[in-house]
Amino acid sequence: MKTPFSTGFKVVSPFGYRTDPITGEANSWHGGVDLVGFDRNVRAVSPGQVIRSRIVTDPNDRTSEWGNYVSVWTDDGRYTYYCHLAARAVEPGERVGAGQILGMEGSTGRSTGIHLHFEVRDGENAQLDPCSYLGIPNTVGFVWDPDSMKDDPEPEPWEKQCHDWSRDAVEWAIQRGILKGKGGGDYALGDGLTREEMCVMLFRAREVL
Ligand SMILES: [Zn+2]
Repeated sequence: MKTPFSTGFKVVSPFGYRTDPITGEANSWHGGVDLVGFDRNVRAVSPGQVIRSRIVTDPNDRTSEWGNYVSVWTDDGRYTYYCHLAARAVEPGERVGAGQILGMEGSTGRSTGIHLHFEVRDGENAQLDPCSYLGIPNTVGFVWDPDSMKDDPEPEPWEKQCHDWSRDAVEWAIQRGILKGKGGGDYALGDGLTREEMCVMLFRAREVL
């Protein structure tokens, strides 16, 4: 079994009941697992045939929530769904191999940010635990590619690697309002940065790099 991202990924929202990220409703059913890849190439986890590759815009059709999605009927008899894609790379009827790129991770449909919603079904409607299908824990956390990591010791989480070389610069930037963020690797540019300040920063960065 492959995973949807050959470079590894983070499970950001497990399969099962959760608080709805948009309405805030408690105990709302989540029929798949949400993953954020270390790259954005979404790959087939097992070989099969593409059944659908489309976007549904009719709001009365619940599959409109998935935005751009690709479904694959796998050779082991499961329907797999890859949702919220920014772009699709395959067409219905096409055969795909495990690891083949199906599209680019995105945030189309009912989504609050770039991620992959991945579902596995037994038949059209019975939702299975996609994590047990992939052989990964159904909990929030990092998953490293099982193929490339097999013989290596578990690497440092990339958040920590990043912090080790950039901690001082990140703290400096947060104190001055250039970056905003709560840590954990998710930072965004602050709102207070003028065009000119950005130009100066880029100029200085180029000098150093
Ligand atoms: Zn989801």
